[in-house]
Amino acid sequence: MQSEELRSLDNEHVWHPFTQMRAHREEGVPIIESGEGFFLTDVDGKTYLDGVSSLWCNVHGHRVPAIDQAIRDQLDKVAHSTLLGLASVPSIELAEDLVKRAPEGLTKVFYSDSGSTAVEIALKMAFQYHAQKATPDTQPRTLFACMQHAYHGDTIGSVSVGGISIFHQIFGQLLFESVQIPCPSAYHRPTEYTKAGYLEFCEQELERLIVENHERLAAFVIEPLVQGAAGMLMHPPGYLKRVRELTARYGIPLIADEVAVGLGRTGTMFACEQEDVTPDFLCLAKGITGGYLPLAATMTTDEIFSAFDAEPDEYKAFYHGHTYTGNSLACAAALATLELFDSEQTLDNVKQIAEVLTQRLAELKDHPHVGEVRHKGSMVGIELVADRETKAAFPASKRMGHQVTLVARKQGVIVRPLGDVVVLMPAPGMPAELIHQLCDVVFAAIDEAVRLQV
Ligand code: PLP
Repeated sequence: MQSEELRSLDNEHVWHPFTQMRAHREEGVPIIESGEGFFLTDVDGKTYLDGVSSLWCNVHGHRVPAIDQAIRDQLDKVAHSTLLGLASVPSIELAEDLVKRAPEGLTKVFYSDSGSTAVEIALKMAFQYHAQKATPDTQPRTLFACMQHAYHGDTIGSVSVGGISIFHQIFGQLLFESVQIPCPSAYHRPTEYTKAGYLEFCEQELERLIVENHERLAAFVIEPLVQGAAGMLMHPPGYLKRVRELTARYGIPLIADEVAVGLGRTGTMFACEQEDVTPDFLCLAKGITGGYLPLAATMTTDEIFSAFDAEPDEYKAFYHGHTYTGNSLACAAALATLELFDSEQTLDNVKQIAEVLTQRLAELKDHPHVGEVRHKGSMVGIELVADRETKAAFPASKRMGHQVTLVARKQGVIVRPLGDVVVLMPAPGMPAELIHQLCDVVFAAIDEAVRLQV
């Protein structure tokens, strides 16, 4: 099919996720036909550097021989069976590998197929854990603590513990109750606070909200170190450790959503490691198959599992599971992805990427339309503002973040904004030279988009 025909069929039939469909039809997007290494090629033959790892999930590149081969080998055996009433070789081997790599004590792996479901499962498990451990005089634990602005996915449960206001405006009546903890990322603080004063306020609120609600809290859910989809909001050092101390003190399970920050993104395999924290639940997805196939894992402890380990007539099973839970092809891709972290020393590469990014991002230090640059490992958010001094935003109608991505795309780089935050999310395995290309194009695109709009 010719590209114009494909485009018109796309417009006619494909409803794209999180997409303003009218603008999508009017602008037209590249229709990707193939990928190689860290590049994608569309049906018109134009090649793009994949600057956001195909929605933050690609790790070692596209068409990686070892992952391709692992999937082919598994295809020669079986593509899928089920984990309901049967087990499978790759799901067992992957669980063993994940347990070895994760913070000590996370010994159980429950599979699903997206980041949203990995979180949904942790929420449901925490709730059922308390219900099954409850005594007649304990209060039901129906409340969840979560971070302001957080994104944990788009299912009803994961939206309930998220803080993206448009989702709450639309789906609010369907959601369950949560306590929102102020996000200790100081750039957007109310004007009456100094930076230090705001961080102190956040610490006090964290403690106050936990102390006030602890008897009803089923769990505390947090993206460790970086709230990615909130616009790469960074927590100060020690914050996660403090959350762990308080949740442990008050008997509240901690859910670490490492869907975005896990698998090398922050410079360590898991972000929790940087603060020496073991959560009660660790949620993984995105990069787990190297960006090849849908798979997620919710890891937890023997203590949580013990509440479900009962006789059949006690009906304490975890009542959750999907048709494709633990798909064999996806588990084989994940095993190969994890092995490549060792053989390619991918974590060392993330450190090199981080160094290049630190150097290059310094060029934006005095940019009149860059309010703040937030960076950890291979995760970057460049916040565009109309006025650097007052932090005034551009009018939403200008869609400045989006304009930057359109200019960058013309120059052969794919990036995707979060509002007016331009996100760079190079794959952990991307060679450092390509980071220069990414920065060159995106920095020029920022200037060009501002010039066209201001
Ligand atoms: N949790 C976090 C921290 C995420 O960043 C995302 C997606 O961006 C999700 C959960 C949801 O993952 P998925 O889109 O695979 O459902």
